[in-house]
Amino acid sequence: MGDINVFSGPMKCGKSEQIINEFTKHQIAGKKAMMFKPKIDDRAGETLVASRNGRKINAINIEKIEELEDYDTDVFFIDEFQFLKGNIDTIENLATKGKKFYIAGLNLTAEKKPFGKMGDLLCISDNVKMMTSICEVCKNDNAIFSYYKGKKNCDIEIGDAKYIPVCRHCYEKLNKGNTIFY
Ligand SMILES: [Zn+2]
Repeated sequence: MGDINVFSGPMKCGKSEQIINEFTKHQIAGKKAMMFKPKIDDRAGETLVASRNGRKINAINIEKIEELEDYDTDVFFIDEFQFLKGNIDTIENLATKGKKFYIAGLNLTAEKKPFGKMGDLLCISDNVKMMTSICEVCKNDNAIFSYYKGKKNCDIEIGDAKYIPVCRHCYEKLNKGNTIFY
């Protein structure tokens, strides 16, 4: 039987690192494994998934969850899942057929709303690891939100130069304009 394993949390919490670790482990064990990422995210170059410490894995670019059905592999790895469109049932169906999933994604937008299909994914997952980052304001290890520093000019802004991980307390302070940090 397959299963669905998710690493989630704010930016800079090590999500991509976790699925790269799992990918490497499965490859060494000789399992059929493939890495996927949304087409929209080109931070690491067209076809790479990269961790913040520089490890890189070749990835297949897809736009919709349904496209996973076109690939013959035993273990699916997906980074930046929040940017994928499509039907979450595809993942549940593939897991029922015996496929394993390791998925990384931001759970919340900078407005603290469920990001894309992440909410649906968390509900159907076997294992969810919620991770935290270091808050860039107070430096405590309890950042659960990604805060946007600046004025938004489109719906989804890619790249994380303008986003910082912050804790609940500092998010509120920043939202009220009480802290200047850059
Ligand atoms: Zn804080």
